[in-house]
Amino acid sequence: MRTLVDYSWKLQLKDRIPVATFRLQHSDPGNLPLSSTTIKPSEVTMANSEPQGCLAVILSLFGVRLNGDLPTSEQLPYRQRDDFLSAAELSFYRVLTLGLDGSYLVCPKVNLADVFFVSGSHKKQSYKNKIDRKHVDFLLCDPTSMTPVLGIELDDQSHARRDRQERDQFVDQVFEVAGLPLLHVRAAAGYSPQNIADLVRQAVADRALSEKVVERQEGTPVCPKCGTPMVIRTAKKGNQKGAEFWGCKNYPKCREIVET
Ligand SMILES: [Zn+2]
Repeated sequence: MRTLVDYSWKLQLKDRIPVATFRLQHSDPGNLPLSSTTIKPSEVTMANSEPQGCLAVILSLFGVRLNGDLPTSEQLPYRQRDDFLSAAELSFYRVLTLGLDGSYLVCPKVNLADVFFVSGSHKKQSYKNKIDRKHVDFLLCDPTSMTPVLGIELDDQSHARRDRQERDQFVDQVFEVAGLPLLHVRAAAGYSPQNIADLVRQAVADRALSEKVVERQEGTPVCPKCGTPMVIRTAKKGNQKGAEFWGCKNYPKCREIVET
């Protein structure tokens, strides 16, 4: 005879997460709940519709794994690549770090979607798709704040290809419209660290400090960086604690503020 055993838990997680209630039914009570028995999802009845992720996390506390179609580690096809940086990129990276001598931190192969965000809501996803598989060869950051200050593209022969040119043009535009300078360096057999450092300093200095014009719509300022209407926020810490200011709706991607 098939005996069903009910295990019911009610969990109060952190304040903002709703109470999770679920019921687990299993035909072999001898193996539950503290053994590492794998329960198929079909054997689990959820009392209401919490996402399975939540349930799986709770069950894992009891050593129980919801093993639907998860592949085993042996089945996963991931292997480490041997060409994280090409020989040309590595050679340039060495010269760059030598020339800059710690004044900027050099991050190779940075995804554009980690540097830029899409402002506004119009066709947001399609604009995001355009950048989230593209990388800039090197991103130079302030060593303390890690704020990006300059992108560098190492132009090798592949940049002469037509598809590559279109890609380059688009990336140039992204940097330009977002106000982050981008330096193109032609790939060469050798570089002078001093020359490269000079090029970098020049490009950073040339960064157009576009004047921040704050437009207002019926008293509400528009973010000077991304053009969205701002919202009133209250400073939670620091000297200005308690003070109100206009903050960008896109925070934390955009940290522009305007005084009230
Ligand atoms: Zn903004």
